Amino acid sequence: MTTHSTTEPITNRLRIVLVGTQHPGNIGSAARAMKTMGLDRLVLVAPEKAPDRESEALAAGADDVLASARTCGTLAEAVADCRLVLGCTARSRRIALDELLPRDAASRALEAATGGGEVALVFGRERTGLDNEELQLCHAAVHIPANPEYSSLNLAMAVQVLAYELRLAVLVGDPGPAPASASASAPGRAESPASHSELEGFFGQLGDALEAIDFHKGRAPESALRKFRRLFLKAGLDSREVRLLRGVLADVERMAMLAGRSADGG
Ligand code: SAH
Repeated sequence: MTTHSTTEPITNRLRIVLVGTQHPGNIGSAARAMKTMGLDRLVLVAPEKAPDRESEALAAGADDVLASARTCGTLAEAVADCRLVLGCTARSRRIALDELLPRDAASRALEAATGGGEVALVFGRERTGLDNEELQLCHAAVHIPANPEYSSLNLAMAVQVLAYELRLAVLVGDPGPAPASASASAPGRAESPASHSELEGFFGQLGDALEAIDFHKGRAPESALRKFRRLFLKAGLDSREVRLLRGVLADVERMAMLAGRSADGG
């Protein structure tokens, strides 16, 4: 397993992902918020408008962060190599995700990064936030406990709050207690925690296997799949464990196919 090297700043493993940003000015303000807190890895997922003059003006002296921003077509692409993906939401949703306070999110992020993992903090669109499909790609949600009657911060201000908490966590240098879920990197563990794309591959195969054994019996599969996601994310699986489970699923699918064939009389 890779571990954090002393020559490379831990912040190199912490990325801020802005999904579908509508106002280029907010991209600039987010870059500025990041730089004040020592973060410089910005990823833009399908922004409505590419960074422009207004972004540069609002970035002020953080034009280097803006200039080095990477652009991806989808959130899945932006977080494919991440061990921990945290989605920031202005309101609680009916989605089976743990909800963290910014401080706890920062502590988990630092812990995963210290263990050698890449970490993403994901922020949604100004008008509509993150959609449910995007939240499904996150290991936990983060909510800034704002005024419940007026809980939606400006995008760049939300980035500022999270960046500040990350800064504090980095300065204190305390990764916090070992977590019970996705960010786990248990001491003494030889295998590296599963990456986002490994887990998504597993969830995809789990969906196919459940279909193959007619687990849903005519019900819509989404609710069960969300529960399974939550259950397996809690386990903090490593790469080897994901391979083991996928081996089981491959046999499940094979047996279902054989059963189907014999039922057809073939
Ligand atoms: N109307 C949108 C608000 C989007 S604000 C909605 O209700 O979802 C733009 C982004 O800023 C959000 O997607 C979220 O990532 C972040 N944000 C704003 N307020 C937040 C809060 N109180 N806690 C966590 N993230 C917040």
